[in-house]
Amino acid sequence: MSATSTRPKTPALSVVSPCYNEEAVLPELYRRVTSVCRETVGEDYEIVLVDDGSSDRTRAMMEELSAADPHVVAVILSRNHGHQLALTAGLQIARGDRILILDADLQDPPELLPKMMARMDDGVDVVYGKRTERRGETAFKVHSARLFYRVLNKLVEIDIPTDTGDFRLMSRRTLDTLNQMPEHHRFIRGMVSWIGFRQEPLEYIRSERLAGETKYPFRKMVHFAVDAIAGFSVLPLKISLWLGIICAVIGVMFMGYTVWGYLSGNVVQGWTTTMTAVLILGSGQLMMLGVIGGYLGRLYMQSKNRPLYIIDQIICQPKGNAARED
Ligand code: UDP
Ligand code: MG
Repeated sequence: MSATSTRPKTPALSVVSPCYNEEAVLPELYRRVTSVCRETVGEDYEIVLVDDGSSDRTRAMMEELSAADPHVVAVILSRNHGHQLALTAGLQIARGDRILILDADLQDPPELLPKMMARMDDGVDVVYGKRTERRGETAFKVHSARLFYRVLNKLVEIDIPTDTGDFRLMSRRTLDTLNQMPEHHRFIRGMVSWIGFRQEPLEYIRSERLAGETKYPFRKMVHFAVDAIAGFSVLPLKISLWLGIICAVIGVMFMGYTVWGYLSGNVVQGWTTTMTAVLILGSGQLMMLGVIGGYLGRLYMQSKNRPLYIIDQIICQPKGNAARED
């Protein structure tokens, strides 16, 4: 199913939350989001919850929520597709004029919504949350994230705001543009920056997870970082050229050195230096082959043109369903 913005009767606001094993936080998420939505837009909102292949009661809880409340749309994915793709699924289903992206674990306060809406009333297209402080996260996570955003900005051509997550309110035209971007390896906060229009930060303090554990272990963080860099920069490919030039210069100097050794009758010497040169060159070449392979792999995956995610089921009340039929 694909989403379009042209359906009749679109809600003023959609809140989209990807959820992966979030049974511990779902009831509180629902309560706080509902209360802030009511306060801001009355009844004119929807909450799109995406179940990213959870193995706990997340799906069952979503079914209960949508059975009890017509505002809730539960999107059940066929398996775990990962945070960015789960979010993509939710964003393509969302029909609101404005769309709030919110992590399920309530690390980002939904209560900032009225302030974000007010900024949008002034003509801003994207109001993104900027963390001034991060609570309850390991020193490693905080520092690696800080370093990551600074390195990323050196590498890529566009300006990706530092210390932001996906927590943001977007206008419909921004989301429509985002939904048209077909890339498989998605780094959504960067893609939104790339779109442009008027984007402004709103500072806030990121609190700790309400319950449960982070769903971003080290392995996923590395994948995420690689997607961000490779998705927005070909600099790693250019590095191989520079490395090649540096090696060539060193090689010429080294050649001069060996010729000089030959002329002075010193020919047996140099096994160590030869080995060193071979090893350095060999490892450099392998490394760069890896970089090229990484980009080639992306190209290959993209060229297969598979769907980004598979939806098992969309659960919502008939009222919501009728509006969803194309
Ligand atoms: N998430 C997801 N699929 C995954 C991993 C995470 O949908 O494979 C969701 C998760 O439920 C949460 C959000 O993505 O709503 C961010 O994850 P988390 O809070 O664990 O990341 P952290 O805040 O620790 O970086
Ligand atoms: Mg979190």
